[in-house]
Amino acid sequence: MNTVIKGSDLTIGIDIGGTKISAGVVDSSGNLIDSSKCSTPAEGGKELISSVVNLVKELNKKHEIKGIGISIAALISSDYGTIVGAPNIANLSKLNFANEIKEEFKLPIIIENDANAAMWAEFKFGSAKGLNPVMFFIIGTGVGGGLVIDGKLFKGANGIGAEFGHMCVVPNGLLCGCGAKGCIEQYASGGALIRYANEALLANPDKSEEVLNFGEGKLSGTALTKAAKAGNELALAAFSKQADWLGLACASYSLIIDPQAIIIGGGVVDAGELFLTPVRAAMRKYMPFAESHVPPKIIAAKFGNDAGLIGAADLVRA
Ligand SMILES: [Zn+2]
Repeated sequence: MNTVIKGSDLTIGIDIGGTKISAGVVDSSGNLIDSSKCSTPAEGGKELISSVVNLVKELNKKHEIKGIGISIAALISSDYGTIVGAPNIANLSKLNFANEIKEEFKLPIIIENDANAAMWAEFKFGSAKGLNPVMFFIIGTGVGGGLVIDGKLFKGANGIGAEFGHMCVVPNGLLCGCGAKGCIEQYASGGALIRYANEALLANPDKSEEVLNFGEGKLSGTALTKAAKAGNELALAAFSKQADWLGLACASYSLIIDPQAIIIGGGVVDAGELFLTPVRAAMRKYMPFAESHVPPKIIAAKFGNDAGLIGAADLVRA
């Protein structure tokens, strides 16, 4: 039961999202040695735990595993075991997720919010290495956040700290998945990007064919990235709107945290400088006391979809 994880030991990282569960065997340098995945069971709860157990068993047959780190799209209590809230995964809130899986494998286990796990991967092995303090925005359908201060993940009193996506920027604005209104997530996320593009298409129906052709008839983040890279003005305008809101958030958070750098991850990174340059410009535009301090660097994340599982696999070593 009291397994000690040594430097050369392998651990497993699991990333549980709303649609799929990815598992990977990771070494102490953050390299992914082997991987497997399955769909997230719609019923969640115990079924979800069984899916995780099966993935671990499959990888454990081929490798000697000394610990399990789980990254999940949910708020996690600061004791690393209980799910505080999981808006996109069913029937999880009453389970002590960590204990259920620990009973099966008798190995050290931790469970962490997916954005925090991804932040940790960037800090240990990626774009945030050596930076202090350093904060992280992960821009997908929503906006996740992570923060490392003095080499430690900042979690807050109850494990819900650094949820940067839920700062209110528009009083009584759009309803957010968290239950509040006007959160930055509703204006700076990938979901908002698609809404901006949709609004522009409704206002300019003659331009819709050109934009939709980039996504084989469907409007998506990938299609808009392709369109923006090809110089499509409507796509560029949608990215610039999203970037303006994110730049505003970066400026406001700078005065709370004074980070050395802000790492931007998630699907939006595929747009590269087309997105990051307007984020930097917006941050300068909205920055309080702009001339009197050094603004944080805005840097693209190193890891893509594997960030959560690589970070979680390392957190169980700590
Ligand atoms: Zn919110």
